[in-house]
Amino acid sequence: MSDVIVEIAGLHKAFGPLEVLKGIDLQVERGQVVCIIGPSGSGKSTLLRCVNLLEEPQQGKIVVNGNEITHEDVDIDGARRKIGMVFQGFNLFAHLTVLENLTVAQRKVLKRGKEESERIARENLEKVGLSEKETSLPGQLSGGQQQRVAIARALSMNPDVMLFDEPTSALDPELVGDVLAVMRQLAEEGMTMLVVTHEMQFAREVADSVLFMDGGVVVEQGPPGQVIGDPQHDRTKSFLARVL
Ligand code: ADP
Ligand code: MG
Repeated sequence: MSDVIVEIAGLHKAFGPLEVLKGIDLQVERGQVVCIIGPSGSGKSTLLRCVNLLEEPQQGKIVVNGNEITHEDVDIDGARRKIGMVFQGFNLFAHLTVLENLTVAQRKVLKRGKEESERIARENLEKVGLSEKETSLPGQLSGGQQQRVAIARALSMNPDVMLFDEPTSALDPELVGDVLAVMRQLAEEGMTMLVVTHEMQFAREVADSVLFMDGGVVVEQGPPGQVIGDPQHDRTKSFLARVL
C-alpha cells in the first residue's frame, strides 16, 4: 500500500470557456496536513470539489488511497464515503438532532446498526467537545458548535482523508479558535487533511506543506516557513501582504 493518500496529476477543470484549474499536481501523504491558500476565485474550492467528485475534471488523474476516482468505471458513492468533507456552511440536517446527524449516513451508507453507529457518533462528539449536545437540534447551536458537529459527522464515516473548505470563514471571530483547535487535534492524531484556509497562523503551525494557488495553477509549494515565511514569487508575496 502506498503512503500517498491523495495524488493529483495534471488536473484540468473548465466551466465552459472558463479554465479554472490549469494542470494541478499535488500529493498528500498519509498523516500529512496540506494547506491551500490563495486569492478568491483561484480555484481552491473547485480543486477540493474535484477530489470529492462533486465536479468532474476534463483532464488529469486523482487517486485516493490507491483508488483512481477519475477512472470512468469508478464507484462514485464508494469512493466518496472514504472522503470526509467539511464546507464553509455547516450543511447539517436541520430537523435531525446532533446524534441523528452523526448516525444517519453511518446507517444508510455503511449499514451500521443503531448501537454501533451511536457508539461511534458519541466517540466523535466527545472528540469535538460536544457530548452534552447530542439531543440538540443544529439551530440551537452556535456556528462554531455546528461546524464541530459537521467535523464529527465526517469523522464518523472513518474517512481516509478529510477535506476542509474554509471551515472557519463563516464564523464569528470568537468561535474560530474552537474549530481550529479541533482541526489541530485531528492533525496531531495523524489524520490526513487537505485544508483550504485563510488562517495563516493555523497553516504556519499545523501544515506540513502549504500550497499557494493563483489563477488555476500552483504558484508555490513547500513547508510553511518557506511559502508563508519566505515566499519566492511576487504573486505569493502580494497575497500574503494582503492577508497577514
Ligand atoms: P476559490 O475557492 O479559490 O475562491 P472557486 O474554485 O470557487 O475559487 O472558483 C474558481 C472560478 O471558477 C471562479 O471564477 C468561479 O466563478 C468559477 N466557478 C466555480 N464554480 C463554477 C460553476 N459551477 N460554474 C461556473 N463557474 C464556476
Ligand atoms: Mg472557495
